[in-house]
Amino acid sequence: MVIVLKPSSTNADVAALLGRLRDMDAAGYVGPGQPWTVEVLGAGPGFDRRKLEEIPAVDRVLDAPLAVLQANDPSRGGTREVTAGLRATIGARRLAVIAGPCSVEDEGRLLETAAAVVEAGGVGLRGGAFKPRTSPYSFQGLEDRGLEMLGRVREKTGLAVVTEVMACEQIARARPFADVLQVGSRNMHNTPLLRALGEQDKPILLKRGWSATLEELLLAAEYIRQAGNDRIILCERGIRTFEEYVRNTLALAVVPEVKRLSPHPIIVDPSHGTGHAHLVEPMCRAAIACGADGLLIEVHPTPARAWSDGAQTLDLDEFGRLMKGLRKLAIACDREL
Ligand code: PEP
Ligand code: MN
Repeated sequence: MVIVLKPSSTNADVAALLGRLRDMDAAGYVGPGQPWTVEVLGAGPGFDRRKLEEIPAVDRVLDAPLAVLQANDPSRGGTREVTAGLRATIGARRLAVIAGPCSVEDEGRLLETAAAVVEAGGVGLRGGAFKPRTSPYSFQGLEDRGLEMLGRVREKTGLAVVTEVMACEQIARARPFADVLQVGSRNMHNTPLLRALGEQDKPILLKRGWSATLEELLLAAEYIRQAGNDRIILCERGIRTFEEYVRNTLALAVVPEVKRLSPHPIIVDPSHGTGHAHLVEPMCRAAIACGADGLLIEVHPTPARAWSDGAQTLDLDEFGRLMKGLRKLAIACDREL
């Protein structure tokens, strides 16, 4: 249970509220940011919620964490645009397509891919240098060498570079080469990482944990925002279900829900969301139709030879054709591409 105080309340009001909680044999945790919030801890039989609601400085007493988030975000009502690098805006009428290989492998192939992304109308280049792999025996990424390649390809193409960081110490290494720092599905719950990214002056692409609820995704974004960075792009990338036909189950209903509940733009990753290249196009279409602000797509010159995630990766021609096809759909959905 969280008590939200009125915006006019003072330190003295907070201290008085903590005193009242102590009198009721409970404790209080004062949350970050404004308006003040106090979580009720350890309430015993002497606790009386109605007495708290009668205190003049108290605005409301909430049970659900998501309700607190809503109470804390007076700017809601419309998507907040996030700009990244030279040419990317996410959350505007124009859909933002970010594409590239799962892993950065080699500069020639990265540049060839980036040129195809530009040609097709994409605004961002994705590519992992720190790779979160399930098996320690799998390729773990080129790390700093990969980041430098991304930086050089950015110089040549003007694409916004999106790359993942898995640990706080990787932020400073990726920063000079990245326009958007990605939090992968495995790290959505890594709160020290989220807080550290909240201190950066770069947009954060926050992927949904594969077993995270929508509420958990929005609260993870709140860690970043509370630490000072509201340039957050959410990403639906599928969740684990009993279904084994697809790698993950793309939960597209979260897209309109995010639009209702959050100011952050949301993009969809149909590559990890399905695990199969032939399902990428239909899921792109569905994502646009339900209101996504953009797409994150794995693309490689020869997917069969990609060092990771080849089965879900489009080749450059397939990507070009996909983008052409999506353009008409975007217009029908009152968007541009
Ligand atoms: C990726 O984007 O390459 C990736 C590892 O994605 P996810 O964190 O969604 O699995
Ligand atoms: Mn991948």
